Amino acid sequence: MVRALRESPAEPSIPQPRRTYEGQELAGRGASGEWDVVVVGGGFYGSSLAAQAARSGARVVLLEARADLLGGASYFNQARVHGGYHYPRSLRTAGRSQASYEAFMARYSGCVVDDFLCIYAVARGSLTNARKFRRVCDYIGAPLMDAPVSVRKMFNSATVEASWVVREAVFDAVRLRELVREELDEAGVTVRLGTPVAGVQERPTGVEVVLEDGELVTAGQALVCTYGEGIKALPAGVEYAGLHCEPCEMALVDLPDALRGKGVTVMDGPYFSLMPFPSTPYHTLSHVRYTPHGSYPTYEQAAAALRGGLASRADWMIRDAARFVPAIGEAVHRESLWGVKSVPARRDSDDARPVVLRRSDGGRVLSLLGSKIDNIGDALRVAEEHLRDAV
Ligand SMILES: Cc1cc2nc3c(=O)[nH]c(=O)nc-3n(C[C@H](O)[C@H](O)[C@H](O)COP(=O)(O)OP(=O)(O)OC[C@H]3O[C@@H](n4cnc5c(N)ncnc54)[C@H](O)[C@@H]3O)c2cc1C
Repeated sequence: MVRALRESPAEPSIPQPRRTYEGQELAGRGASGEWDVVVVGGGFYGSSLAAQAARSGARVVLLEARADLLGGASYFNQARVHGGYHYPRSLRTAGRSQASYEAFMARYSGCVVDDFLCIYAVARGSLTNARKFRRVCDYIGAPLMDAPVSVRKMFNSATVEASWVVREAVFDAVRLRELVREELDEAGVTVRLGTPVAGVQERPTGVEVVLEDGELVTAGQALVCTYGEGIKALPAGVEYAGLHCEPCEMALVDLPDALRGKGVTVMDGPYFSLMPFPSTPYHTLSHVRYTPHGSYPTYEQAAAALRGGLASRADWMIRDAARFVPAIGEAVHRESLWGVKSVPARRDSDDARPVVLRRSDGGRVLSLLGSKIDNIGDALRVAEEHLRDAV
């Protein structure tokens, strides 16, 4: 079981030898503090990075504001394990997705689901066309199979140019949380839930993390993984400038028989995606135009808009998606998932989803925004290098 502490760990009465990070003394640069590494934010990124640092020998504490891990965007998302098909305008994001796919599927095999027919289609008049889409998939090595007649017949040929069966999966967000808890437990990370952080300060010998209740946690290094959610005080260089923060709605829908066991994504522009959401009996329906209920420069503004209450647009999503796949018109909206999406602003034109990093001037604080779940391999590599270099 993960150790979920609300109080700070007791000071050891006997001086403990300092732990090392991959054989290197973490105290080498004069680090001081109760912990070698403090991680702020217990989503998929913070939790995974915390487990990795602890496996390498560091004493790690993970501070999460919510009552449970993976309760933010890591639950409220479409659960797609990207194979690259979604990013025909960003070869880098498409290529990295395809390159990471197998590794993600193997590492998280306990929570991925791929026993459904995953279908991509290109709309007429979209930002891509069938020829370009095929060319990008060939280039990145993403398998495309021409859709059989039974699939092609699902689409309205007046609005859809072409369709394919592809290799993409979804993950079960509840099972992913369990896997991450097991990883943290095995690695020996101390997890403190219900522990909002107010500020992180960089000192010459380490970092000081101030909790909302005034308690001070000290460490050699800090990793900030709050998905763009602001912390009141951060060292220079660590805040993200230029995020788009969108209050988002994903509809959970019950599908007619013709669509059960299928995922359908129509590219590339103001269209929709329909994917199984394995922790429920439903599918998620998201729509490029209707899922974001606005865009704000800060996470806090987007979260305030959500708290203010937003009227569901699920019926609009269903109505518009039925222009491409008429059977979706029979979908029944059961409920909606609401959360904030943080997207690097300059990526609007190409829709890229990079791992975004910010380092403090003194190098002891790294903030990391993963952009999508399957970027985890790249993020773990970067964080490992950062912690090693920082020693
Ligand atoms: C609508 C939507 C659809 C998406 N679809 C997909 C998809 O299909 N596939 C995909 O790969 N990605 C998708 N994404 C992106 C994916 O969800 C995110 O990239 C990923 O979940 C980010 O993980 P994280 O750990 O960085 O953030 P989170 O899971 O949000 O974790 C951040 C944590 O930090 C905590 N926190 C914040 N502030 C503080 C503080 N001051 N003190 C302590 N804790 C704090 C929060 O409580 C939260 O638990 C989607 C996102 C959205 C919103």
